[in-house]
Amino acid sequence: MDDFNDLQKRVIELKRAKNALVLAHYYVPLEVQDVADAVCDSFAMAKKAAAAKEDLIVICGVRFMGEGAKVLSPEKTVLLPALDAGCPMANMVTPEDVQELRALHPEATVMCYVNSPTEVKAVSDVCCTSSSALRIAGSIPGDEVIFVPDKHLGAYVASKVPEKKFYLHEGYCPTHHRVREEDVLAAKRAHPEAVFAVHPECDESVVRHADFVGSTAEILDFARNTPAREILIGTESEIVRRLQREFPEKRIYSVTGAFTCVNMKKITLEALRDCLELEQYKVELTGEQISAARRSLDRMISI
Ligand code: SF4
Repeated sequence: MDDFNDLQKRVIELKRAKNALVLAHYYVPLEVQDVADAVCDSFAMAKKAAAAKEDLIVICGVRFMGEGAKVLSPEKTVLLPALDAGCPMANMVTPEDVQELRALHPEATVMCYVNSPTEVKAVSDVCCTSSSALRIAGSIPGDEVIFVPDKHLGAYVASKVPEKKFYLHEGYCPTHHRVREEDVLAAKRAHPEAVFAVHPECDESVVRHADFVGSTAEILDFARNTPAREILIGTESEIVRRLQREFPEKRIYSVTGAFTCVNMKKITLEALRDCLELEQYKVELTGEQISAARRSLDRMISI
């Protein structure tokens, strides 16, 4: 406990007193990650929520993550520390969009990135995360896929699974989408020895310059295992902070200082303390919403 500040100590006390499981996404502030029971990407978070023994689960992440945990553990109380921490990409897609795409491509399987609302998961055939997207796309039957909502991840998966035809929704993650090819080229000029690892939520013009493309957890593994001493990171800023702390002997750079998800930064230690103390904000879904969305999430976990 000595390494923790007073607020962190309070969070740890509350967590124990309430027998809560606190799961943090890699993009929330490091100070919050440090007091979590597990730090995860979306896939690991879904699996841990599904297997949770505790009656109280706190999801330090954005709304779709809390809703995903509730769908997978409906009998548990699931809390989100910040009510207004949403995901702009998730809000870009609606169930009507999926129905329209289905009407145009009736033979296609609908693959839905977990960064989507519960109502969209409910009308999809299978969910995926960035770490499972390639595996799932390769394993689903048929040769047509509707991919929602991330056009960049969809295009990346389509390029790796050329035997299937993909129809993409137009959504995107503003955090990754705002990074431009010019930013990458400038960063590469500034750090010519660095290897470049990028998240597939970035535009293809950015991804094409990468030495490694992978999900958040895969980028972390790559950075841990590469013999390179300089690494250029093409994903959210907290990953850079985490790696800089973990490997002070390596030189780890962000492609641009603009790589920040403002919604993930709403999950502060204060918000987490209040969440545990006041048991707020509960994720509420109807039984009907849960059973409709559960099928596509269960299928993702089982593949
Ligand atoms: S990083 Fe992008 S996809 Fe992730 S929560 Fe933020 S806006 Fe949504």
